Amino acid sequence: MLGETLRAWTATLSWPMVVAGLLVQNLVVFGLALAGGALVVRLFRGRRVTAPPPPLERREVALAACTIVLNTAVTVVGFWLWQRGTVRFRDDLGLYAWLDVPVILLAMDLAMYVLHRVAHVGGLYGWLHRPHHRYDRPRPLTLFVLAPHETLAFGALWLVVISVYPASWLGMSIYLALNVAFGVVGHVGVEPLPRAWVRLPVLRHVATSTFHAQHHADPRFNFGFYTVLWDRLLGTLDPRYERAFGTSIEAAPSVDAAGSTGA
Ligand SMILES: [Zn+2]
Ligand SMILES: [Zn+2]
Repeated sequence: MLGETLRAWTATLSWPMVVAGLLVQNLVVFGLALAGGALVVRLFRGRRVTAPPPPLERREVALAACTIVLNTAVTVVGFWLWQRGTVRFRDDLGLYAWLDVPVILLAMDLAMYVLHRVAHVGGLYGWLHRPHHRYDRPRPLTLFVLAPHETLAFGALWLVVISVYPASWLGMSIYLALNVAFGVVGHVGVEPLPRAWVRLPVLRHVATSTFHAQHHADPRFNFGFYTVLWDRLLGTLDPRYERAFGTSIEAAPSVDAAGSTGA
């Protein structure tokens, strides 16, 4: 019902209006991510897990701007697929709608883990993933500092997932919000969670700021995004993760060299 009403309303909009609206939506998400990240950095500045980032480079700003434009393009394609009925969202709000959140999170986590490991192999690393790893002292903006083709690869993965799995509006929206939140937390360079986190049942499997900061410091480990499950199961969890939780580890001597052997 909600989906049909939305589809009928959006069908009356011109394409320039749709593109402008989705660009604004992406800019709002970007602004909220940076503001939320800045707040976390400020609140937990006494608990750094990486050295403070160096002054901002023009290149970072250019790559982040490019990511926003490309994310908007992916959103426009997603909108078009939804308008023509290839992508469908369910209207239910009950248990199954909520269950979509862990289902999508775990499926995307596994798919992104695999893609992330592949992105660290040999020549592919330099072509696809090195621009993100130039920054071993991340700041919230680093979440958006990606090679254009890497942004498109993640976008394509998401479009495939929503094309084959008819998620609920509720589950899909919560997943997207969590996706940004996890991305920001992974790049704040401070650890907001208590040290006991890594000993708590269930929660110890949820990815943290320390987890992704360690990946930037030593790209041989920690390829997951939302959980540490796949790294634990497949033997790529940094052996220092629990011991060094909430503290800074030495960056690998050469991030590029470590990256090229990272798989
Ligand atoms: Zn990162
Ligand atoms: Zn990586």
